[in-house]
Amino acid sequence: ATTPLETPLLRAIRDIHTRFTPLHDGEVASYIPELGKADPDHFGIAVATTDGHVYEAGDTAVPFTIQSVSKAIVYALALDMLGSEKVEAAIGVEPSGEAFNSIRLKADNRPFNAMVNAGAICCSGLLAEAAGDEAFELIRTTLSRFAGRELEVDDAVFQSERQTGDRNRAIAYLLRTYGGVRGDVDHILDTYFRQCSVLVTARDLAVMGASFANHGVNPVTGEMVASNYAVARTLAVMISSGMYDFAGEWIYRVGVPAKSGVGGGILAALPSQLGLGIFSPRLDAHGNSVRGLRTCSALSDAFDLHMLSRR
Ligand code: GLU
Repeated sequence: ATTPLETPLLRAIRDIHTRFTPLHDGEVASYIPELGKADPDHFGIAVATTDGHVYEAGDTAVPFTIQSVSKAIVYALALDMLGSEKVEAAIGVEPSGEAFNSIRLKADNRPFNAMVNAGAICCSGLLAEAAGDEAFELIRTTLSRFAGRELEVDDAVFQSERQTGDRNRAIAYLLRTYGGVRGDVDHILDTYFRQCSVLVTARDLAVMGASFANHGVNPVTGEMVASNYAVARTLAVMISSGMYDFAGEWIYRVGVPAKSGVGGGILAALPSQLGLGIFSPRLDAHGNSVRGLRTCSALSDAFDLHMLSRR
């Protein structure tokens, strides 16, 4: 894909980048010690259209860990690889109304949804059970195909998560008591921690978003990366649960299915139109990138991106 020199979209993301660069609200996540080393000033905005054009402003080539944004793609992978019946029997599709790392399960002992830690650990557990030692490689390959390039793990972040991940360990053990996950908890968690530690750029998130928006075909590489069913259902869960405890507010104001991560990334996907990838590590109290929220909101207003708006 080529990047046209000047289009309204490119002009808009450059303007928005300039406008929000002075915004220093929020804090870099530090509960995973290695994440605390991120440069808080980094700020990248990328937009990838479903016809394969990518527009970029700022630090769109700076790598950071994907964190919870991976949950969306791994859920789509699980639906495709294991079948929807199996995945839907194990993981719910209701918003939890609680923090991403809550240990509470639904009354039927299933995780609320695949966008919170319990659901994502369950999802990685199902893949680990099916694919054994190959599970992480399968996840890495799928994330890479969504991004259209080979992605690698940040080993320091992985080790840091593993050393400080007792809460996730507690969730995994709780899930195992109900049969939500089976087998070796350490193997399941290593798969999950590695998946969260995959390095991406804002550009990668935009192309991943565009792969969702393009109904499972990566518009840059032309490769089919997920089924239409998996894409539609994953986007549905992103609408209700993708933005932590801000999901309702987000879909009301911005109106684009999205998933954020504590590394400061946001992926958004407007079906049949475009993918957005934002990176700015300072987070608000919900765990969402402060500049990321402002950027998506400004872009949605400028181009009337709300999914329920007349087009
Ligand atoms: N690896 C992080 C955790 O499990 C992901 C959190 C997130 O991005 O929401 O705590």
